[in-house]
Amino acid sequence: MPLSGFERRHGELYCEGASLSAIAEKADTPTYVYSGTTILDNYRSYAAALSTLPHEIHYAVKANSSLGILALLAREGAGFDIVSGGELFRVLQAGGDPARVVFSGVGKTRQELVYALEQGTGWFNCESEAELRLLAELASDAGAAPSVALRVNPNVDAQTHPYIATGLSAHKFGIDIAEAERIYRRADEFAPLRLEGVSCHIGSQIFNTQAFFDALDLVLALIERLRDDGANITQLDLGGGLGVAYKPSDTTPVIADYASRLAALLQGRGLKLTLEPGRSIVGQAGVLLTRVLYRKPAATKTFIVVDAAMNDLLRPALYQAHHEIVPVIDRQRPNLRADVVGPVCESGDFLAKDRDMPDVQPGELLAAATAGAYGFVLASNYNARPRAAEVLVEGDRWRIIRDRESLDDLIRGERT
Ligand SMILES: *Cc1c(COP(=O)(O)O)cnc(C)c1O
Repeated sequence: MPLSGFERRHGELYCEGASLSAIAEKADTPTYVYSGTTILDNYRSYAAALSTLPHEIHYAVKANSSLGILALLAREGAGFDIVSGGELFRVLQAGGDPARVVFSGVGKTRQELVYALEQGTGWFNCESEAELRLLAELASDAGAAPSVALRVNPNVDAQTHPYIATGLSAHKFGIDIAEAERIYRRADEFAPLRLEGVSCHIGSQIFNTQAFFDALDLVLALIERLRDDGANITQLDLGGGLGVAYKPSDTTPVIADYASRLAALLQGRGLKLTLEPGRSIVGQAGVLLTRVLYRKPAATKTFIVVDAAMNDLLRPALYQAHHEIVPVIDRQRPNLRADVVGPVCESGDFLAKDRDMPDVQPGELLAAATAGAYGFVLASNYNARPRAAEVLVEGDRWRIIRDRESLDDLIRGERT
């Protein structure tokens, strides 16, 4: 199963030392459950492989921004990659160090930039000359001199789902390399900003690491040209994007292999490397626990109606994504062909479609695997459904890191 930190004991699925049935008993369903040890192991795989190189690991908050998870990584010494003022607020609430935050994103507002400068955000990855100009003006007003990288668009094909590929000229992200080069040459115009980095993020859920190395070649060549021209480029941010397994047959890049190859390539170049991994830190560390409500036989298949829906886990509807669905209690039984669907009034509301799976019964608990990244963060209140609870497991201990929303939460801030 494409999960780590989860195992079966006498047929029952555990997250580390905690039984998922026991968690569902207390926390109810739907509930996201994360293995803290797996999250830390993944983070440490990056850190260990890069230990010979000056580096920063900025966990990409958008993959999973729950405070309990941010706090876990902050305590471990992680920096953070954010794409909004809200994510910065979350990082600060979780005890993250603003000096070790990089603010990425194509549409930062004036308000967000002012807030980020006030809070002492250490690093900005800028995606247009207009943004750079605004940031320079605001930094000057605030008496700040943050470090800045231009996010370049290397025009390499990440070979991933079109919605999460970001490194082609056709995408809204980054600045064309030749254009970036012209901007770096005019760095003085953007004082007090310190244009000392180059950044690049070509997409997400990438299996073929050659795309990263192709992008790296282009970025290193750019840095060489800029340095020849007298620019003081000291940082290279290669973004996130390493893929994880969703299907048992997926063969994914290994964090340690990828990061140690980067470390070898960058040795002795006088560059600090920043990575912004999100999915590869949390993806396989989480499941969405849900309970079967009804079985509904139809002409060619059976609908398994569960209490989790597209508002809880949007990936199948948004990306046609595959999540393995497994019963929490495993036992001998026939398979059937089923759609696993939620209660939301949309035919796009499914967790699995035409799936060959165990013939599960009403009342049974199921786990949707590899739900740690881009799971809860994409949850909504569609159909006025309160958002799910979240549980963090560390060893034998587990705790609720987010309460299930109440009916009152659903109308907070509203008036008739
Ligand atoms: C989404 C994103 C990441 C993280 O990508 P993963 O595939 O989750 O590792 C990193 N950097 C930037 C700029 C992003 O937009």
